[in-house]
This record gives sequence, structure tokens and C-alpha cells, in this order.
Amino acid sequence: MDLRQCIIGFDLWHLALPVVSARDHGIGRVEGTCEVVVLRLTAEGGAQGFGEASPWSVFTGTPEASYAALDRYLRPLVQGRRVGNRAAIMADAARAVAHCTEAKAALESALLDLAGHITCQPVWALIGGKCRDTIPLSCSIANPDFDADIALMQRLREDKVGLIKLKTGFKDHAFDIMRLERIAQDFPEFRVRVDYNQGLEPEQAIPQVLDVARFKPDFIEQPVRHHHFDVMARLRNVTDVPLLADESVFGPEDMVRAAREGICDGVSVKIMKAGGLTRGQTVARMAAANGMTAYGGDMFETGLAHLAGTHMIAATPEITLGCEFYQATYYLKEDILETPFQVRDGQVVVPNGPGLGARPDVGKLDHYNVRRAS
Ligand SMILES: [Mg+2]
Repeated sequence: MDLRQCIIGFDLWHLALPVVSARDHGIGRVEGTCEVVVLRLTAEGGAQGFGEASPWSVFTGTPEASYAALDRYLRPLVQGRRVGNRAAIMADAARAVAHCTEAKAALESALLDLAGHITCQPVWALIGGKCRDTIPLSCSIANPDFDADIALMQRLREDKVGLIKLKTGFKDHAFDIMRLERIAQDFPEFRVRVDYNQGLEPEQAIPQVLDVARFKPDFIEQPVRHHHFDVMARLRNVTDVPLLADESVFGPEDMVRAAREGICDGVSVKIMKAGGLTRGQTVARMAAANGMTAYGGDMFETGLAHLAGTHMIAATPEITLGCEFYQATYYLKEDILETPFQVRDGQVVVPNGPGLGARPDVGKLDHYNVRRAS
């Protein structure tokens, strides 16, 4: 298959998806629904590819911006182009609109899904080949109601999930320490990571991070605002617990500065921050080349974006710390995929079918839709 088919269809859905509870993540809260934008590309002959933009307004951007970037600025670059011209389309997309990395991730996911369906190959085969069949799953503990999170941890234990990430810095330090003590006492089988999501002011950061480091988490993620590279570097020097950068490092350009200024021991790689799967792979490789580890992070996503991230990690040996693709299973009231996102014994299962390996149910897209364009 030579992928000479032209892309003739470009459909968008802006979805509002109900979630099971509020979640606090450092500087922001999610409650009621999370909003994503789904893109469907159709090629001559009828093959289709799907991608998702999963923004968060306090972190990467807004669903309105993702929708506008795709509908107004990226649509003209795609329609009429050949499926095989993916790299050229993505280079044009990078120049056509600043930022909007989630929209670019949706576009690259849909182009890869489309190429995979036309050539009967999984997406991982199109971006380097597979280095793993499963990925350890981490679930975030972020409910302001800690009793509800205790019930969630009991369910995770039954499901053989071995990694949890405690979201800290949204209430007070005593609440964070109380939860860490309780987890250490009642759930000693979990490996624990800590993520502040930029929740600390610089003057609070050193004493609070040192206090949390006593619990020996696998890593402590992004204690301060994304632009405080100097504070991140200082924190890294006062604790032996690895420091992870998330909001400070979106794409390869940020990774250059993070390595030069020594702000972290590892990085959370997200296709929604990097602007696609291949740029995410570049971030992970740059991290490894600088002696850092890499983690498979995500946003508030459906199973569709989880699948894109799963294929990226499957083809990226440098991402060694697992992934956090838990929302489809543990957070959305209903996911949008036709067949469930596969998690088995606490591991995300890498699909081997064509494209992303599963598709959204268009009936669900229409049901949860708040805005649509074709
Ligand atoms: Mg994070």
C-alpha cells in the first residue's frame, strides 16, 4: 500500500463527558465533566482515522482553542493531501498555528490511525516498532474526599494495579502528610509517586518537598509553577528523591532548557504537550540522552487518546516508568470506545490490530457532543 489516497473528510466533535467525582490537581480542579475534541479523517476509498485533543485549561489550553485550531487552521492543510505525506502535513501544522499542541496530537493520531488501517499495521509499527507488550498502569489519587479514594485504592488493589500517584498541594500540607501516612500504613503494596501539579509557592517548596521525601516516593513531580526552572533546580539539589518535570517540559524545545539548567531527574512525556506521538518520542530520547528517566503521562482523556499514548510508549523504550492511562477505566462515567481500553492485571495491553486498535462509537460521539463541524 502506497498511501497515495487523498484525505477527503475532516469531522470534529467537541465532547463534554461526565466524570465520577471531582479531582483536585495542584492548581486546578476538574468537576462534572471533562471536555475533549475528537477528529475523524476520511480518505478516498472510505478508510478512516481518529484522533483526540485532550486539553486542560489551566495546563495546556482550552477545548475551544483545540477545536478552533483544528477547524479553522489545520483543516485547510489536511484536506486534499495524501495520507502518506504525514511528516509534511505535521510540519505545516507546526507553522500554521502556535501552541495548540493537543490539536496537533489529535491530527497526528488520526493520520497514523488512518495509515495503519490502510496498510493493516498497528500505529506502533509506523513509529519505530514495538519494544513492549504491556505498560504498568498508575492511577492518580486526587479526590478531595479521601474516603472515596480509599475505596478506589481497594478497587485498584483488587485489580492488581501496583502504582498510584498522590496528587498533592491543592489543600494543605497536613492533608498531604496524613494521606501519605495512611497509604504507607494501609496500602503498603503500592509504589507511590507524588505530583504537585505546580501547587506550591517557591518559598513553601523546599520544606514541604523535603517532608514528603521522607516517604521515599518513586518521584516527586512538578512542585512549582512551570516557569520556575530555578526553583526546580534548587529542589533537585536538596533531595535524593528523583524530581520529575511535567508542566515545565512540553516539547523537545523545553527539554533542551530543562537538561541545560538541570531542573529534573526525569520527565513526564505526554502527546498532548509535545504536539504528537513522534515529538513525544523525541522528548523521551532527549531525556535518556541526558541521563534522565521518562514517564508516560496523560491529560483528562478518553480511551481514544489513551490508545495513541499507548502506541507511543510501545514504540519508545526510553519511557520506563509506566503510564497513567486510567481515566477510561476509573474516571469517566462512560468511555467513548466501541471496545474497552484494555487493562489487565494492572497493565495496559498494547493493541496489535490495525491503526490504534479500537475506534470510538460514533453514536457516543453524537450523544456527548456539544459542538460539531464537518
Ligand atoms: Mg503531572
